[in-house]
Amino acid sequence: MSTTATFSALNPATEQSITGVFPQHTHQDVDLAAKAAQEIAKSYRQTSPAQRSRLLQAIADCLEEQREAIVERANLESALPLARLNGELSRTTAQLRLFADVVEGGLWQEAIFDTANPNREPLPKADIRRQNIAIGPVAVFGASNFPLAFSTAGGDTASALAAGCPVIVKGHPAHPGTSEIVAQCIAKALKSLELPQAIFTLLQGTTHELGQSVVIHPAIKAVGFTGSIHGGRALFDLAQGRPEPIPFYGELGASNPVFILPKRMELHSQSLAEEYLLSMNMGCGQFCTKPAVVFVTKGNETEQFLQTVRQGIAAQQGQTMLTCGIKRNYLEQSEKRAQQQGLTRTQSTPEQGVPAILFETTSNDWRNNPQWQEEIFGPQSIVVVCENDQDMLELSQSLEGSLTATIHAEQDDYQSAQRLISELEEIAGRIVFNGWPTGVEVSYAMVHGGPYPASTMPASTSVGAEAIKRWLRPVAYQSIPEALLPDALKTSNPLNVRRSVDGKTA
Ligand code: NAP
Repeated sequence: MSTTATFSALNPATEQSITGVFPQHTHQDVDLAAKAAQEIAKSYRQTSPAQRSRLLQAIADCLEEQREAIVERANLESALPLARLNGELSRTTAQLRLFADVVEGGLWQEAIFDTANPNREPLPKADIRRQNIAIGPVAVFGASNFPLAFSTAGGDTASALAAGCPVIVKGHPAHPGTSEIVAQCIAKALKSLELPQAIFTLLQGTTHELGQSVVIHPAIKAVGFTGSIHGGRALFDLAQGRPEPIPFYGELGASNPVFILPKRMELHSQSLAEEYLLSMNMGCGQFCTKPAVVFVTKGNETEQFLQTVRQGIAAQQGQTMLTCGIKRNYLEQSEKRAQQQGLTRTQSTPEQGVPAILFETTSNDWRNNPQWQEEIFGPQSIVVVCENDQDMLELSQSLEGSLTATIHAEQDDYQSAQRLISELEEIAGRIVFNGWPTGVEVSYAMVHGGPYPASTMPASTSVGAEAIKRWLRPVAYQSIPEALLPDALKTSNPLNVRRSVDGKTA
């Protein structure tokens, strides 16, 4: 690496520098890393699923060995509590182990066969077999709000390594020390399996130029990003404006609307209020799945619900935000919103940390202020009081794309719930029933995505086993002899891959 300049991390709780200096990587470092990744991309793509599975397991094992050091450093750099970080590290190793299983399971290859028919009239039909292959070197942007599970060895890195893609991580400048310890684990795992170090590189720095030069480097074939609409959109536009445009999987922002139907409110106003408070304040509201807007209908129980929420908000303890910049954005954006007509505000008054904020409005004012759908990252949420179910349904038709949408309903509410589901399918990646959107299961069926701005690629997910497909590209092999076919497509099926033949599961 050609770097000489350095930077330090800032402790968001004290706003003081933390011990340790990290390289300010440059355009030249990007070029070296990307070219090295390109050079070994073919050989890494051709490693066996078993070998890649062992790599993912070895990274998970090393992260476990380093648990104490990682969690301690992440706590200093993010102000997230130790218990949360311990949970996040467990989630990170579970993700790596899930992708170790996924890559060995073989479904990701999507082996599809068309049987040849030399006697077909008027023309013979060829033997065609398709499979997915790794797309090439991938760039991953670490997220500020998940220093472990969506950062250096997070979901994007795990799924890309499983797919057979070398990875270049652009670390988030808020937690360089955490990123470095995790990167050392990946390097150790590669070494233990005698795999080239160029399969994984961490680049660090505090300038936009670093991330931009990663995205435009010709060797990079896809990008994974979690962060702001502003930053994500700028990088998305760069990725699309390259001479060779590439897929940019950006997870940018969501309002995660929640709809509480009247019968449910009548029976559960107290517990709904308590659960709402927990969900919106969890992690200081710094979750992409925070419920930023809740739709309710007028009534006595709704008034009780609101009373409990107001009291809960006023009593909230202050929490420290992830970075000084995020705190500044939160306070400025909340204050600006509070000045707008049609909103009433309740907020806590903590001695330290940021206040929790509740806004209330009517359906009419909500209709006239579409800008209130914009995410304010932090412990802030809006309750919209609707006239009735029909009013609520109408509002569900003008929502932006979101990671999730939630419905609370009892059997008496099912008619409205049914209509809501068909509206919310249009805008959400995941529909939750009688629950809350925070907490994303890492599993086979999970969808963490949705129409823009939830995701720049609404046909994909960034969490769960299907996330591997972002880093794959299909190739069809026509009339290729058995001896020359890739293993997944050989008639003898040495990898024991599940396949479909002529449109039916074989
Ligand atoms: P961010 O500003 O979008 O930064 C994310 C990454 O992108 C960082 O590595 C950043 O590094 C880089 N970046 C940002 N703007 C860029 C640009 N124009 N060109 C090139 N690279 C760029 O997000 P953040 O730092 O995590 O937090 C800021 C805001 O993002 C929050 O206040 C919140 O609104 C939102 N956010 C949303 C989610 C979500 O899940 N929806 C998660 C986290 C944050 P450099 O600054 O060093 O270039």
